[in-house]
Amino acid sequence: MTNMMKVRPHPTQNEALLFEKSSPGKRAYKLPPLDVPVVDPAELLQGQCRVQQAELPELSEIELIRHFTRLSTWNYAIDLGMYPLGSCTMKYNPRVNEFVARVEGLAEAHPYRPDTHAQGVLEVIDLLQHCLVEITGMDAITLQPAAGAHGEFTGILLVRAWHESQGNPRKKILIPDSAHGTNPATAALSGYTVENIKSNSEGGIDLDVLASRVDEDTAALMLTNPSTLGVFEGEIHKIADILHAKGALLYMDGANMNALVGKVRPGDFGVDVMHLNLHKTFSTPHGGGGPGSGPVACKAFLEPFLPAPVLVRKAGNREQGTGNRKDGTAGLRDLGTGGELHWDYDRPQSIGRVRAFYGNTGVMIRALAYILANGPDGLRQTTEDAVLNANYIRRKLEDLYELPYKTASMHEVVFSDKRQAARGVKTGDIAKRLIDYGFHPYTVSFPLIVHGALMIEPTESESREELDLFIDAMRAIAQEVEEKPELVKTAPHSTRISRLDEVQAARKPILRWRKTGNGE
Ligand SMILES: *Cc1c(COP(=O)(O)O)cnc(C)c1O
Repeated sequence: MTNMMKVRPHPTQNEALLFEKSSPGKRAYKLPPLDVPVVDPAELLQGQCRVQQAELPELSEIELIRHFTRLSTWNYAIDLGMYPLGSCTMKYNPRVNEFVARVEGLAEAHPYRPDTHAQGVLEVIDLLQHCLVEITGMDAITLQPAAGAHGEFTGILLVRAWHESQGNPRKKILIPDSAHGTNPATAALSGYTVENIKSNSEGGIDLDVLASRVDEDTAALMLTNPSTLGVFEGEIHKIADILHAKGALLYMDGANMNALVGKVRPGDFGVDVMHLNLHKTFSTPHGGGGPGSGPVACKAFLEPFLPAPVLVRKAGNREQGTGNRKDGTAGLRDLGTGGELHWDYDRPQSIGRVRAFYGNTGVMIRALAYILANGPDGLRQTTEDAVLNANYIRRKLEDLYELPYKTASMHEVVFSDKRQAARGVKTGDIAKRLIDYGFHPYTVSFPLIVHGALMIEPTESESREELDLFIDAMRAIAQEVEEKPELVKTAPHSTRISRLDEVQAARKPILRWRKTGNGE
């Protein structure tokens, strides 16, 4: 590597907080003088007015803009390069979907609008529901949950409500050790005890072990498929049979649906209830704390328990609009041909609301735009590209990095740092060194069943050229580990701050700025 400097060095490497930069009287705007009588706010608010000025930073417009622009250059972003964070599906999301989500009539539709005045938005939501039901092969869906983990919670509440309606909520939920960490948290939060199922040497579920663990106390198995190892559970229909024989249900964590869309449908292989992550698979940027959406799709017998309200079409139903839609585009032709849509609150068996409103509509609109723009063939192609990219990386790196599970990879590949650790270099060190090469780190030390895991998910976004650059970087780092391990162990060397004290940051986070006498 010849030059590790950024194109343009930062003007300052230690940008102060806005509060520290503030000086009294500075303004980021100029308004003409008031030409109406000034009302005393204290009089207007009848004593509710604050007596002390709020301590807000005062800056000029250019100071403000430079502050945030400088901070933005310290960040890595999908618009700068590859973001191979396994399990996170950090893919590129076409800008046109952002445009659609900002169309005024959709973006400014108020959730308290009467249904009769919101038919356009409701049609969008209805059509998306149909598309997702078709993609998953399930019978019914709710778009209310705001994230994947929230979807899990909703889905397991459905499981619980159904078992209760059968007379016994049951006690435990089985979770394989390759599951996403949110799964056991969900089960525990829903009042179940969690029982771990050890994966077999292929990274899948051992059917005999499963059969010996399922009993009349088992409410469900929560299965991430493909698993966090990027392994597809090949005998999932048998897993479903084992559960169903004992009256237990199969929950699928479908956050990794980008490896399945257009190829297989969970509803066809025995899944009873599942969630999707619209903010991974269907075109909303994942991460950064923005809004998400974790729809829950289920089989017909769970439908009565879905969170209220549920979107229904009034009498005079359009016949062709609701059934057997083979793809999203067919649905478009039906728009406006049937009765009005409305929210139905009269759902006596519902688990209740899981969110204040109907879900994150902006995320839904992006998802629908993405689905319709791709169409069935495009979605299938996306899936194939995501899997191809992961396998390309696997092939190009498996001679240098240990591959603990040799089972075919789907959308992500998990290596371990076994060979590098022998030289004292851990997965976290390699990830930090990757920053020097201009890439965001992969997911470090997860899944937990792989010691020293390097979890890599390139997504379908990346071209062969970008993948090759990533592979070159990973290969160069493997060589550095052999020749000069210290260089890797002390990386990154090209950032303004090198290694943070991650333990302190987790144990004693300082989340609030306090003004001190000398402005420090
Ligand atoms: C991301 C993810 C989740 C959690 O989704 P959030 O939206 O972050 O709550 C759950 N399971 C799997 C497999 C995931 O990849």
